[in-house]
Amino acid sequence: MENNKKIAASVSKGLLQSEELYRYVLETSVNPREPEPLKELRDVTAGHPMAVMVTAPDAGQLMTMLLKLVDVKKTIEVGVFTGYSLLLTALTIPEDGKIIAIDLNRDSYEIGLPVIKRAGVDHKIDFREAEALPVLDQLLKDNENEGSFDYAFVDADKVNYWNYHEMLMKLLKVGGVVVYDNTLWGGSVAMPEEQTPEIFKSDRQATLEFNKLLAGDARVQLAHVPLGDGITVCMRIY
Ligand code: SAH
Ligand code: CA
Repeated sequence: MENNKKIAASVSKGLLQSEELYRYVLETSVNPREPEPLKELRDVTAGHPMAVMVTAPDAGQLMTMLLKLVDVKKTIEVGVFTGYSLLLTALTIPEDGKIIAIDLNRDSYEIGLPVIKRAGVDHKIDFREAEALPVLDQLLKDNENEGSFDYAFVDADKVNYWNYHEMLMKLLKVGGVVVYDNTLWGGSVAMPEEQTPEIFKSDRQATLEFNKLLAGDARVQLAHVPLGDGITVCMRIY
């Protein structure tokens, strides 16, 4: 768990100009507006050894804004963990909205599920305990799914981000948005290779390659935003 602590220390610093400034933004604009059920979900996850994986509240605030701006009804989430980003999405989309939520591990989802149920939004969630790639592949086999999703949030195994992207470019409608999380990978993307802590190395490499491919992808409008551990917002433009 030593590794998790190191990652936590690096991520919790935030990537804004300074720790003080990050704290200021959280205290002033983010924390007072974080919905109660999301606070609760953060609390029930706090004791988990991997609690550091929960989406940062400032990144969550921007995601909520995007969900509203795009008027999202139908969405995909890859990487649920205890459900912070999932609950945020479920709270934001309309009553008849739907989320296909995929994670290898149902146990962690079940930690957050009572909070999601109490918030009265579990009917919007279709949870699939599975590897994400085959699920996306299966969705694509049904022609009706092509170009039908308004939004996706990808927050799972970094090595597959480009594979997810290729599939999501077919599943999302033109004008749809996909958000990728951890695209600055603890700040390691800007570290010289030899100074990079061993624990960051393999996903650092995957993230570097992904970011480069994404920057060259004419199918998307892109914004690489240094919130949380870095999020990249892409809109499918054709
Ligand atoms: N979005 C979550 C955090 C996700 S953490 C939140 O806001 O709290 C990453 C999750 O991705 C873990 O729960 C892990 O089980 C899942 N995961 C990793 N590899 C995966 C894969 N290949 N397919 C599906 N889920 C995967
Ligand atoms: Ca993440």
